[in-house]
Amino acid sequence: MRKKIVAGNWKMNNTLQEGIDLAIDINKLAAEKADKNVDIIIAPPYIHLSEVGKLIDRDRVLLSAQNCAAEQKGAFTGEVSAEMLWSVGADYVIIGHSERRAYYHEDNTILNKKIKLALDNNLKVIFCCGENLEQRESNKHFEVIKKQLSETVFTLAKEYYDSIILAYEPIWAIGTGKTASPEQAQEIHKFIRSLIAENYGDNLANETSILYGGSCKPSNAKQIFANADVDGGLIGGAALKAEDFIGIVNSFK
Ligand code: PEP
Repeated sequence: MRKKIVAGNWKMNNTLQEGIDLAIDINKLAAEKADKNVDIIIAPPYIHLSEVGKLIDRDRVLLSAQNCAAEQKGAFTGEVSAEMLWSVGADYVIIGHSERRAYYHEDNTILNKKIKLALDNNLKVIFCCGENLEQRESNKHFEVIKKQLSETVFTLAKEYYDSIILAYEPIWAIGTGKTASPEQAQEIHKFIRSLIAENYGDNLANETSILYGGSCKPSNAKQIFANADVDGGLIGGAALKAEDFIGIVNSFK
């Protein structure tokens, strides 16, 4: 059975103290009332990782970075390498988020370097894909997602898939309050799973977790997670409130 996962992307929010407080609250609620069948991942900003990592019960709450450098080490001012993330205890790194693609011009060449460095440095990867509104309205979303995946994670050998989680995040639903309908989410997740099957076979397709991201909240998570090919969520805004985040964790039937 593939894993059910809810991951919270804090983005560029919270001072260190606020991040510590949020992590303590999430950790407490995770122990007290979160569904034990769901893996919980939090992705605080870089500077929080070390402190937050010490506060959470690592058997219950896993730690992710939101990004990593596209180089192993050296003169890259301001960058943080995959090895550094591993050294402060990160388990995962998010790669390919639409905000990184759009605002920092991360193309598939850069994303591939990051994926490789993350895997080489013992990090698991949460890899995001998704179309923008124009692409959806012109019915190009299937083609766009296929290209995003074919040129990146589908170039990896099968063996790496133990360390890969995919996230479908329609850009038009991120931070906008507009959520993909449960049918739209299922349609794309099923499509992504069929692409994994084409590339790697049915077994791997059935074992790979595919998360939905885009304005997911406790009020809509149940309907989205009820779909056969939706294995959880990558959560932005609602991950900043411990009760809401754990509410989403508890949204599987
Ligand atoms: C995200 O950025 O990954 C995301 C899903 O954000 P939000 O939940 O705020 O739409």
